[in-house]
Amino acid sequence: MASERCDVCERSVRIAGGIGDLWNFAFESTQGMTLELTDGSEFFLCFDCVEGLPSDREPTETDVADLRARTDPAESGSDHFWHWG
Ligand SMILES: [Zn+2]
Repeated sequence: MASERCDVCERSVRIAGGIGDLWNFAFESTQGMTLELTDGSEFFLCFDCVEGLPSDREPTETDVADLRARTDPAESGSDHFWHWG
């Protein structure tokens, strides 16, 4: 097992050791997946955030950015401030 940070909500999520695990017995203990877009960019998203992407077409980098803008980070560091407007 390993963990990786979701590129949208910034939560640390558990992932299986490899793609073989992902599609087999470890699927239920995996909480996110790497999304490879048609333009070659890659994002790691937890399943909650994957569900927020459009399902009727291939998601794009813009979709990921939009989703990130709509999602409050799950963790906030000491340098986190609210920005109004
Ligand atoms: Zn997420």
